[in-house]
Amino acid sequence: ASVLSDRISALQESQTIAMAKKARELIAQGIDVINLSFGEPDFQTPEYIKDAAKQALDEGYTKYTPVPGYVDLRQAIADKLKRENHLDYECENIVVSTGAKQALANTVLSLVNPGEEVIVFAPYWVSYEEMVRLAEGVSVTLMGALENDFKVTAAQLEAAITPRTKLIMYSSPCNPTGSVFSREELAEIAAVVARYPQVHIIADEIYEYINFVGEHVSIAQFDEIKDRVITVNGFSKGYAMTGWRVGYLAAHKQIASACEKMQSQITSGTCSIAQRAALAALKGGRSSADEMVEAYRRRRDLVLELVADIEGLITPKPSGAFYIFPDVSGFFGKTAPDGSVIENATDLAMFLLNDAHVAAVSGEAFGAPSCVRFSTAAADEKLREAFLRIKDSLKRLV
Ligand code: PLP
Repeated sequence: ASVLSDRISALQESQTIAMAKKARELIAQGIDVINLSFGEPDFQTPEYIKDAAKQALDEGYTKYTPVPGYVDLRQAIADKLKRENHLDYECENIVVSTGAKQALANTVLSLVNPGEEVIVFAPYWVSYEEMVRLAEGVSVTLMGALENDFKVTAAQLEAAITPRTKLIMYSSPCNPTGSVFSREELAEIAAVVARYPQVHIIADEIYEYINFVGEHVSIAQFDEIKDRVITVNGFSKGYAMTGWRVGYLAAHKQIASACEKMQSQITSGTCSIAQRAALAALKGGRSSADEMVEAYRRRRDLVLELVADIEGLITPKPSGAFYIFPDVSGFFGKTAPDGSVIENATDLAMFLLNDAHVAAVSGEAFGAPSCVRFSTAAADEKLREAFLRIKDSLKRLV
């Protein structure tokens, strides 16, 4: 028998991390792998934010921090939510966490009882399912149609709600698909949720700034459901601050307090220096993000152009984030030069790693077993080279 708990045994290792590990192994052997498996900006954190962290250290910000975050940071977050998202929140509604990931985990663990259902819009971000599993909830995946840019509709949602439904989780802009819900689509979803008072929604808005269509809508803007929406956001993607580990949630006080309690027993307040840097980031507004977004847009367009030239990769045009998520099922059943048969997206991702030396992530990790996710957060030359190699490799499948 294993010494490990059933809980940890049931949990899956993050497949994105597993793929990155394999890619690193090949790189260590001297192979020139182009890594498009990361969900990470390739930019450095802007200088003014780094400077704020250095200053924080010099000013002695080295002590335990309040569990829900420094008051001035929470106030700045409330101001941001008011200014950019038209949401009225006070400090008491905000909990700063160690990355958006912890904000998500705090919420799931604070709301979901064993056996309660969580509707997860698929394709979904890898960790949602595992968080639900940790909470002993039952995840119910709802798949968005490729023809609808992978977006779940209000009608699909309504058909999936049961008396046991407690929570809905989605990201917009979406990782892995890059799709962005419009105001109309969210209004329809909100109208459905309004009819089921036991249902809450986690809106994961971590890619908010990386949006090529313009309008970002927070579903918490719909007043009739606002008290049941938990808005999650952070600094990792928009400010290129993945390593700093600062995220936050905004929610009804009762939920925010529960998340604070959860966090108080697991990690306490987020890193003092990182919080001071996050405050500086917000004070600097979104201009640094806007510059990065221009690069992400250019790369998206470049990649779409390259992919259009590759038969069998079918991809909607992403509206945000920095991924493309093509359907690759046309290759299933084909044979590689070494005689192995590509049965699924995981086999295809592995083939591309070994043959094209391009690392991507199988859609299976995102609940979409006919797709593969490629990050477009890489230098233009790398992207060009990667998709030329992919094109060559795919031609070798017969
Ligand atoms: N939500 C989504 C959709 C993500 O893609 C990620 C990171 O990859 C996160 C949350 C986690 O963000 P953080 O690094 O702030 O924990």
